[in-house]
Amino acid sequence: MGVTPQGKGITINFDCQFEVRLKESTLSSILAAFAELLPQLLTDFFQKVLIGFGEHAMALKKKPFACGCCGNAKEFTWKTRHGKKTQIHAFYRWVELPQLQVLCKRCGSKLSITRKLLGIEPKKRIPAEIYRKLGLLGSLTSYRVAEKIGGMFGWAVDKMTIWSAVQKTASEIDFKLDDKELPQGEADGTGIGIKGIAKRGKELKVFIQYKKGGGVRVAGLDIGNYNGAWNRLFQNSIEVFKGFRRRFLLVTDGDTSILDGLKDKVKIIVQRCLWHIPHQAKYVLWQDGVKHKSAEWLHVVSELMEICAIRPFVDCQKTIEKMIESKRKRLEEVIGYCRGKGYTHSVSYLENARPDMFTAVEKRLNGKTTSKVERVMRTVNMRVNVSKWSAAGALNVTKIRLAYYYNGFDA
Ligand SMILES: [Zn+2]
Repeated sequence: MGVTPQGKGITINFDCQFEVRLKESTLSSILAAFAELLPQLLTDFFQKVLIGFGEHAMALKKKPFACGCCGNAKEFTWKTRHGKKTQIHAFYRWVELPQLQVLCKRCGSKLSITRKLLGIEPKKRIPAEIYRKLGLLGSLTSYRVAEKIGGMFGWAVDKMTIWSAVQKTASEIDFKLDDKELPQGEADGTGIGIKGIAKRGKELKVFIQYKKGGGVRVAGLDIGNYNGAWNRLFQNSIEVFKGFRRRFLLVTDGDTSILDGLKDKVKIIVQRCLWHIPHQAKYVLWQDGVKHKSAEWLHVVSELMEICAIRPFVDCQKTIEKMIESKRKRLEEVIGYCRGKGYTHSVSYLENARPDMFTAVEKRLNGKTTSKVERVMRTVNMRVNVSKWSAAGALNVTKIRLAYYYNGFDA
């Protein structure tokens, strides 16, 4: 003796008595009968195993539990193996387990050992390992689909349980920069549908970091007003920003004022995402009332396409300088053209973008102009575009989803 049950294990003989009436022998009626058996079987099986381990524990000189009142861990007697029922989520469904109770011989207080044997915290109804699984499920597909698929496998978990598991799981996830990965990344936002306000009223903002071995990880996530502040996206990462020996190259179209405030401490090069500029330009041209695909529209968009196309791997400094000089000149001409036509939104958009458009290329860093964050945004949109959300609901479901796809979270 003296072996803990967890060490060597115990063997359970499980006899099952079950009565069920079937009208026919078809596959579907057998499966339907089995679905009836399942809940009963699950509860009985749990209880049988718990009693087995409970008895094993009671036979030990030192118990794997102690009295909450006096600390005694040796002298107990059984109070009951079939006490008041307690509800616990057993993944396939809720089960109601009669509590195992023991009595402390030293002080006489009662102790329920069901949750202790299960390794669940007192009073918890859904163990962490279960709500994380349900939370991951709810982030991978819609709540309705999750419930439907579960039902097809005789699994009785309702949408609300999955929903609350998502909120709980998300509260345990936080993103920030990893100091062991590259000092390079991108930030971008995507408009999402929020209950009660028009589409594009809020946006999900994502900050990704490039990994040494290729690929990306998520370093920040936030939800906020369209064109609003991006502070919280970078907040967790400020210390890591400071620690990088090389300057951090941040490709973004977002507001990085939080980082401006730390310019003396944090070395950051902000590069406008060139990939976005012609796309955004279409939006500001529309705001200026320029007809789609008119001669004026085509002129501005095609010029911007060419200005923003950077040929990668040009390694001659002189050539780079010449290229940028010519691009800047062309950009000035486009801005002048827009001003002449009275395209005020377009002018202010381009003037605002101008200072950060060629910073990374100039510094001979990677002048890559395709967007990796776009791929991440598609992963976000596949889940959030299926319904209208509360801000917190959309943020939470995206947290888990991105942690799973990009940061190695699993359940
Ligand atoms: Zn006691």
